[in-house]
Amino acid sequence: MCPFQTGKRLLGKSLFSSLLKTPITLLVRTEIYPARDLPSNRPFTFTAHQALHYGPLYRNIHKLHHKYSAPFGLAAEYAHPAETLILAIGTLGGPLGLCYFTGGNFHVVTMYIWVTLRLFQAIDAHSGYDFPWSLQHILPFWSGADHHDFHHMAFTNNYSTSFRWLDYLFGTDDKYRTYKAKVKAAKAGAERVVLEKKLLEETEKEGLFAEKKAEAVSFWGRPKSKQQ
Ligand SMILES: [Zn+2]
Ligand SMILES: [Zn+2]
Repeated sequence: MCPFQTGKRLLGKSLFSSLLKTPITLLVRTEIYPARDLPSNRPFTFTAHQALHYGPLYRNIHKLHHKYSAPFGLAAEYAHPAETLILAIGTLGGPLGLCYFTGGNFHVVTMYIWVTLRLFQAIDAHSGYDFPWSLQHILPFWSGADHHDFHHMAFTNNYSTSFRWLDYLFGTDDKYRTYKAKVKAAKAGAERVVLEKKLLEETEKEGLFAEKKAEAVSFWGRPKSKQQ
């Protein structure tokens, strides 16, 4: 057989495998069963993000990303280089681990597609737009813009940026769920709009206070002023 044909067939098989099989495996491994897949993407991002809210890490790294309490698409990548590196472990760790454990059965195109999708996801989460066709209206437990906007406002809630079941599991979305329940209970129309505006203003105020409190925490976990 012509070596070019063999090469084409191999490339075709590899691309087919990468474009169809591997992303599905990735989705299942890193998103659908995150609790059973601890070193993978979701639990890592959730934990790393929460760690970045710790006093010295927040002051020196994550604060830059929290410059906007109402973010927009480009703000997704507005972050300290150290934060980009830390969170890249979560994004790239799953595919690289899968590549290692499958003996290299992983096409580089899959990696490009995965990174592009993750970028789209991050931009969508920061876009501030909650479209009727946004993923959170299709997939249960998807975070989306509404969920992540609340994180930038409240500071202490909603650490997940895609699937939000870890927030639910650890109770780090309590304020968000209370806010949503209050808005839902209000009469539709002007009453709901006024209430939502009031609740978000309160959330933003509390968020600024929580941010100041976090910034005042020393490396050893104590308020800095008490040490002086
Ligand atoms: Zn944050
Ligand atoms: Zn953000």
